[in-house]
Amino acid sequence: MRFIIGGIMHETHTFSREITSIDKFDISRGEELLRFAGSNHSVGGALDGCARRGIEAVPAFFAIATPAGLVPAEAFETLLDELAERVASSLPADGIVLTLHGAMVAKGSPDAEAAILERVRDVAGETIPIAVTLDFHANIGQRMVDLSTIITTYDTYPHVDIAERADEAVGLLQQVVLGEIEPATVLIKPPLIPVPQVQQTAIEPFRTILERAHDMETRGEALTVTVAGGFAYADVPDAGVSFLVTTNGDRAAAATLANELAGMLWERQEMLLASNPSVPDAVADAIAAEEWPVILVDVGDNVGGGTPGDATEILAELLRQNAVDATIVIADPESVQQAIAAGVRNEVSLRVGGKVDDLHGDPVELTGRVVTITDGQWVHEGPENAGVPADMGPAAVVRAGGVNVILTSVKSMPGDLNQLRSVGIEPSSQRIIVVKASVRWRGGFEPIMARGILVDTSGLGSVDLSRFAYESVRRPIFPLDERAEWG
Ligand SMILES: [Zn+2]
Repeated sequence: MRFIIGGIMHETHTFSREITSIDKFDISRGEELLRFAGSNHSVGGALDGCARRGIEAVPAFFAIATPAGLVPAEAFETLLDELAERVASSLPADGIVLTLHGAMVAKGSPDAEAAILERVRDVAGETIPIAVTLDFHANIGQRMVDLSTIITTYDTYPHVDIAERADEAVGLLQQVVLGEIEPATVLIKPPLIPVPQVQQTAIEPFRTILERAHDMETRGEALTVTVAGGFAYADVPDAGVSFLVTTNGDRAAAATLANELAGMLWERQEMLLASNPSVPDAVADAIAAEEWPVILVDVGDNVGGGTPGDATEILAELLRQNAVDATIVIADPESVQQAIAAGVRNEVSLRVGGKVDDLHGDPVELTGRVVTITDGQWVHEGPENAGVPADMGPAAVVRAGGVNVILTSVKSMPGDLNQLRSVGIEPSSQRIIVVKASVRWRGGFEPIMARGILVDTSGLGSVDLSRFAYESVRRPIFPLDERAEWG
């Protein structure tokens, strides 16, 4: 048996002004995909899943970019062309495993995943079985479901089961090829658009719903079940939660089960409301804490949700309130260059952050000492993305007062302890650590922290969706609209 492995992955924040141009994509071709083997990554899980079943994996093409704004139409075409070409030249095959996100938006393609599947089907044919793996934040549309044979989705947020879900997809695809199963999938989308903060899967309301979903799988009621929290910051018709149940040939049963799960969240919709303390209150609270480290979560600048990673509201407040042993990461290539020019141990005066747009605070004027300069390369400790390399470009640590400002050339996904360790800062030695995230940080930091405080920062990750000018999302939808109807 022979499976082609490929994909294109991006979570697109359609309100962001940071265009996700082609140069933002990290592209792997052919055997280059093998670098993901053994890591907690969808491509890794697909490769490993094939290997352990004796299936020949043909690595074709994989492109991924850090979440940010719209993908231009030409960039998307370029990616589609190469994926299609490489899939075509890898044929014949018994199946295809595609690693997608589910919340990618390209200019002119609000459902980019459906467009990817259309293009792959164009070259591979209507009948070849295709398994798709999605992120928990997927905004799933019916067209993508119609074009796929099997869809599996991370069941966790923070995402710790990434490779497992890809392995599951490979296993189900193998069963399809062997003629053991005939998947029937039903998609149900109640009008709910929760922000990331309330989508943590270890707590309610998602915990109980995922327990029931797993129950359906283990009892054999369903082959696989997707509970997707969706990505609220993509202004597309399919934005919001999705429930996807796949049974062995029984569409009516799949619909009943998907409606059951959707109903569970619908009944608990009040739990999808979020509010957080103000920046001054949260910083004061962290400084007064008697046990450390306290994690201040800059929800408004949730890098994993497509924000710029250069928000300054918390940095300004830490300096104003004279915090000590505090660490914050800010993406600011200009300041990195100035720190490098100044050199280690020397003093430098900088205007830090707040430069990408005018939504994430003003640049902060500070003077500090350059403590460390690195190449910005490190490897995730995990659990999310364990073993996957990270590249934040040349980086520097500038210590201003009691605050360690980690300056990076490109924004990088936060929440992994090795990000701090790579620049010589041991996280457990800090009193306060600012994490630009919503939930992703928990996997790495919860084991070492005293407390986490989610902070009401402004910005593109704001938990107040009324701050965004939605045009395409289906309305009414809760909590954007107080009254939404369903069922
Ligand atoms: Zn996600």
